[in-house]
Amino acid sequence: MSRPTKALISKKALCHNYQVAQELAPNSNNLAVVKANAYGHGAVVVASILEALVPAFGVACIEEALELRAGGIQKPVLLLEGIFSSDEVELAANNNFWIMVDNSQQAEWVLNANISKPVKVWLKVDTGMHRLGVQPKFVNEIYLALRASDNVNNDIVLTTHFSSADEHGSGETANQMAIFDKTKASLQDCLDQADNIPCSLANSAGLLAHPKSHLDWNRIGFMLYGNSPLERENEASKRLIPVMTLKSAIISIREISAGQSVGYNQTWTASRTTKIATVAIGYGDGYPRSAKSGTPTLINGQIAPLAGRVSMDMITIDVTDITDVKLGDKVILWGPELPVNEVAKCSFTIGYEALTRMPKRTPSVLV
Ligand code: PLP
Repeated sequence: MSRPTKALISKKALCHNYQVAQELAPNSNNLAVVKANAYGHGAVVVASILEALVPAFGVACIEEALELRAGGIQKPVLLLEGIFSSDEVELAANNNFWIMVDNSQQAEWVLNANISKPVKVWLKVDTGMHRLGVQPKFVNEIYLALRASDNVNNDIVLTTHFSSADEHGSGETANQMAIFDKTKASLQDCLDQADNIPCSLANSAGLLAHPKSHLDWNRIGFMLYGNSPLERENEASKRLIPVMTLKSAIISIREISAGQSVGYNQTWTASRTTKIATVAIGYGDGYPRSAKSGTPTLINGQIAPLAGRVSMDMITIDVTDITDVKLGDKVILWGPELPVNEVAKCSFTIGYEALTRMPKRTPSVLV
């Protein structure tokens, strides 16, 4: 018998979510973002399942790209944060990693590299996020220099990243798209008009809520894992199925009296005679320490609230109102019936962070 704490990863849900993306954006290449260990789901496991379906993968850095190659993944891998030194250009060219050029220094590294085969490049435009990307006034110069170089493939993708595509009613996505269109038109004027500039705008929120942002390439992460990034769900996001079910089991049950407290620092006190179940999962297993008392868990299909602080290896739950509760009962911390976003909200964070914090100690089981 092993510890019951596991992250179940559903292959069917993952493929379903990718299929949803394909149906929503049938004319785009939908690249699968598997950075941060595939948002905590296991990069090689996820990429192996998706490899036959997707045109390419996206990761943050070359270490993550090399991990995919070591795991047998052969499709191209886009380095979304670009490169961190000139040496990485050769590594990228030799391994079919695509380089996101986010600034003029990265462009210089690509242009000056001593490589025998050209590398594929994406050039990021800063259309308003002001984090990474070349400012519009410098785009033509950098794009044309890259385009003229033997080190670079001809089909440079022009891209940008949305800051607020998840927000309902924000005009910022439209503003960013307008700046992108203007930048592209100015670049097109410098090129042969017949030259097609491939483009990429949409992340998950763009794909789900902004159809006009579906261009040659979309870069989707969070939605693949079955969770919605949208502030307000829509018909498209309701079709997603969470891929990860985080589960554990009850390892102790006791009754306490009104006025007695539970857990570190006595942050929760019973207001009535209460049945407390202790569950074998804590912040050392990826369950957020910041989850407040009242955060929902699922036991025997019923919602049971967290009571007291999350410990490293355990949580405590008020199961007074749960019928037939007993030692060994399965507890769902999040999954298709309890969205991670809901648990994250009770933990003052977002689903993205809750998932990517999944540590090694929690074994993944492919189901
Ligand atoms: N593109 C870029 C440049 C990113 O940094 C990310 C993730 O942060 C994505 C796409 C995927 O975003 P999401 O997980 O919201 O789909």
